[in-house]
Amino acid sequence: MKKSLILALAAFALLGCQKKEQQFSYNVEKFYDLEILRFRVPGFEELTLQQKMMLYYLNEAALYGQDIVYDQNCRYNLRIRRALEQVYLNYPNRDEEQFRLLELYLKRVWFANGIHHHYSEDKFLPEFTREWFTAALEVTNTPLSEEILEVIFNPEVMPKRMTQEDGVDLVVNSAGNYYGEGVTQTEAEAWYEAHKDNSDEPLWIGLNSQLVKEDGVIKERVYKVGGLYSAALEKIVENLENAMQYAENDQQRLVLDRLIAFNKTGDLATFNEYCIAWVKDLESRVDFVNGFTETYSDPLGITGTWESLTNFKDIEGTKRAQTISANAQWFEDNSTTDPKYKKEEVKGVSAKVITASLLAGDCYPATPIGINLPNANWIRREYGSKSVTIDNLSHAYDEAAKGNGFAEEFVIDDETRERANKYGVLCNDLHTDLHECVGHGSGKMMPGVTKDALREHASTIEEARADLFGLYYLADKKLVELGLLPNEDAYKAGYYQQMMNGLMTQLVRIEPGKNIEEAHMRNRQLIAGWVYEHAANKEVELIQRDGKTYLQINDYEGLRRLYGELLKEIQRITSEGDYTAAKQMVETYAVKVDPTLHQEILARYKQLNLAPYKGFVNPVYTLVRDAKGTVTDVAIDYSEGYAEQHLRYSRDYSVLPDIN
Ligand code: ZN
Repeated sequence: MKKSLILALAAFALLGCQKKEQQFSYNVEKFYDLEILRFRVPGFEELTLQQKMMLYYLNEAALYGQDIVYDQNCRYNLRIRRALEQVYLNYPNRDEEQFRLLELYLKRVWFANGIHHHYSEDKFLPEFTREWFTAALEVTNTPLSEEILEVIFNPEVMPKRMTQEDGVDLVVNSAGNYYGEGVTQTEAEAWYEAHKDNSDEPLWIGLNSQLVKEDGVIKERVYKVGGLYSAALEKIVENLENAMQYAENDQQRLVLDRLIAFNKTGDLATFNEYCIAWVKDLESRVDFVNGFTETYSDPLGITGTWESLTNFKDIEGTKRAQTISANAQWFEDNSTTDPKYKKEEVKGVSAKVITASLLAGDCYPATPIGINLPNANWIRREYGSKSVTIDNLSHAYDEAAKGNGFAEEFVIDDETRERANKYGVLCNDLHTDLHECVGHGSGKMMPGVTKDALREHASTIEEARADLFGLYYLADKKLVELGLLPNEDAYKAGYYQQMMNGLMTQLVRIEPGKNIEEAHMRNRQLIAGWVYEHAANKEVELIQRDGKTYLQINDYEGLRRLYGELLKEIQRITSEGDYTAAKQMVETYAVKVDPTLHQEILARYKQLNLAPYKGFVNPVYTLVRDAKGTVTDVAIDYSEGYAEQHLRYSRDYSVLPDIN
């Protein structure tokens, strides 16, 4: 339910094209397994000065938190980053190969907010030598202890940011800094157990603290002004206070007020008040996340990692989602499912589409493309949650993928590629909206049946149900009537994309010899595989050309009928809780991979030389003043480079001490 970590891999699903937008380059640079992109902030210029000022100060509050996540990831990270930056800025012989290797290592450290890979969590080792580095430290007057050199160079020391290995002490064996030296998993768990809040509106004990051992006793060091990370939190508070002057309404003022109070006191009841105020603020154009949020990086899943995302509502995108939502009953009544499984009264879910303006902390440089907060279940139950999709980031992935050779390699012909180029992004957006706003909410269960009836196959079947609902309607004239698609041909881009991805290209994410495990991937293969098997009139086929496999769609309307047939059956399975049929369906179509085709796809993909992980540089925002010094505007600039940006952040926003 939490943040949907659809990360950069989502870009695989998207088709490329030959033509690129002029003037603006989405691609910044590529190294190792990483690619740096930039994103546009469409609509920023049209915001009011008040809204721009609000964002400006929220951005400042975001950037002052970057150091926190470095320190949370590992207690040596800040010292290592600072030493590397000092050498990088001052080393005289910049053409040396060893210096180039230092630059690469530093770029990886910036990307991961530390010395462990952001995704695999394994420590990555520098390729420059320890001897060269020791000399370079001396030449540049950079002090660094032997202890820290061991942390950098010795593969045995702190090898994992977070271990998930069975049977080992998860706290002791993780390099993350959520627990002080000497604290064991048993001690930490005992402390949490003893302090747990079992009330109806519980405090999230441990969300904002580090547990340490002092004289053999476990104690909590709270993240707050005057506590742990005080220097950064003071600047965050100062800028949230500045932002508050530009609040759009009382509700938003309350959100900021509660967050400021929480940062000052660390009081968790105040944090609950903040979350409730935040979830209720649906009117404001500008919105943000700022604080200790997701708990994936704490090996015990309690403490929040600091992150920030500033954003504003995408009016057009939100309208699109609302139009679909408003027609939920029509979609329900006209689907292919058996009338007895239809809901008499269906309500669409209104999802908000946002434009990100700045990313920080754990959302930077690698970022999610959707967010669903807050995380406390009781608040979600009683007050709801905000589910947002970040359109400008997914569009940046799409645009950056153009011309990378992916479509040229895998799409069958120019006509299909051109259609994908024109309508691929729109189809993708619409399909997501249909899936989220009406797909999941459609259909009803027979008396006494719950979705758990499908047990381990429940999520694959549920995702397939929502996807099929979206696919079936993507080709409906209704979308053209509603003004969501420009013509009755555009949907074909979405159909080709789904089939190609489900039958072939998503396999690039699976290692040779492995089965498909993840529910969304299973669902995509289930749909494409079932349709392929049932295409009795060759509606779709896989053809061979020059020893390569291509998807060919001969009859798009026929394909729609097949999607409709499968939707009918998947809804029956769900409504009846037919576990046997679900198991049969998943095992036949969703799990197994054809090893020959898999090998071919992997080889073709490898030769394209694409980076599997992507992250961003932020735009730069500056205040524009008139002759009297009065602020008249906030300017946005996209030209900053990757190293330039990280060095600037370290220079202007790095306020935490080396050791916290
Ligand atoms: Zn879903």
